[in-house]
Amino acid sequence: MTVELISVGTEILLGNIVNTNAAFLSRECAALGLSMYTQTVVGDNDERLARVYREAINRSDIVILGGGLGPTEDDLTKETVCNVLGLELTEDKKALDNMEKILTGLGYKPTDNNYKQALVPAGCNVLYNSNGTAPGIIIEKDGHYTILLPGPPTELIPMFNEQVKPYLAGLSNEVLYSVTIKECGIGESMLETKLLDLIDAQTNPTIATYAKMGCCEVRVTARAENEEAARELLKPTVKDIKNRLGDAVYTLDDNVNLEDAVIKLLKKYDLKISVAESCTGGLVAAKLVNVSGASQVFTHGFITYSNKAKRKVLDVNRDTLKKYSAVSKEVAKEMAKGCLVTADSDVAVAVTGYAGPEDTKDEPKGLVYIACAVKDKVIVQKYNFNGSRAKIRESAAIKALDMVRTSVIASYK
Ligand code: ATP
Ligand code: MG
Repeated sequence: MTVELISVGTEILLGNIVNTNAAFLSRECAALGLSMYTQTVVGDNDERLARVYREAINRSDIVILGGGLGPTEDDLTKETVCNVLGLELTEDKKALDNMEKILTGLGYKPTDNNYKQALVPAGCNVLYNSNGTAPGIIIEKDGHYTILLPGPPTELIPMFNEQVKPYLAGLSNEVLYSVTIKECGIGESMLETKLLDLIDAQTNPTIATYAKMGCCEVRVTARAENEEAARELLKPTVKDIKNRLGDAVYTLDDNVNLEDAVIKLLKKYDLKISVAESCTGGLVAAKLVNVSGASQVFTHGFITYSNKAKRKVLDVNRDTLKKYSAVSKEVAKEMAKGCLVTADSDVAVAVTGYAGPEDTKDEPKGLVYIACAVKDKVIVQKYNFNGSRAKIRESAAIKALDMVRTSVIASYK
């Protein structure tokens, strides 16, 4: 089946907001096995929206419209769609109660225009909104499906996941099921080289690689009559890819990121970690603390930005700093060792580098040393990251986490 997307909102056309809903809906529709060939952005204008919608419904089986379901004059998606399809709007009691309940809960009294949000086309499928006042709507007419969703992502995403996705899945007699293999340490080109024969021979399942900020993902997708059959179909390919990538793979779970995997690993071996950061300024610690349950393994985060701080807090030798400079493998090593001792932890990771935006007198921006100490073993790696200051700091933080992961695996597995 074909699906197309109409994003409604002048703010999107003016570039005031980024169309993240389109990215989300495109990904989800692809995962459902729906073919999307066209997307449109149109302003809050009745005539132009009507034209775009007419074209869409003529060429696609399913048209999803996002935005313009609010209470104000410029919110006209529902009215325009109903005009085009010749449908009457009637009040929906449950949507009305929901609107009143939400507004009263926020301490507002509904105004006249709020009541238009409780109007829905007769005979449609109403998607009740637990995160806002506008219900979503599914209209089936002449073998076509029109789906109206509220614009705010905090409403659109849960409504799609909970109500639209099962509905769309029910329209097709096939499902797509994907497993994402997440890895860190093998760059995208090398990754593709390692999987080239599989990628070239792919039919069902299909294989796609994505670079994601210092790490990569391989998505394996199978199409079958039901989820169980699809799972079975992709098992051998997933196993093969996992074997080829070895310890670079940190999870197959969509909900697990690199820091989750690091915390899990430290818990597994009952290890305490501390962090010493210069150019990342707390980013590594913040990522670890983002994981619930980090307190079981994370003890200290030191931000030692100046040379004096590196000396005082981490006991980095004055001569080492003088001889090699603060951004050097020697200093990174001493930072990691000092961090391990000061924090009395089992693992310590240290980051020192030039985040830019300008190159320094002697060294280019993006030069970063990361050291990881596990027991009495310290390893240090040199990196040359590129991009903005923010990107360099983020890349360094991710590599630091991955170094913790690989060092622990090397010492304990
Ligand atoms: P409201 O009741 O808030 O008016 P609505 O359904 O009418 O909701 P819009 O008025 O189109 O939706 O958008 C409301 C807000 O939702 C926007 O200001 C923006 O923050 C967010 N939004 C809308 N469309 C998108 C989009 N395509 N991608 C990301 N965010 C969006
Ligand atoms: Mg609006």
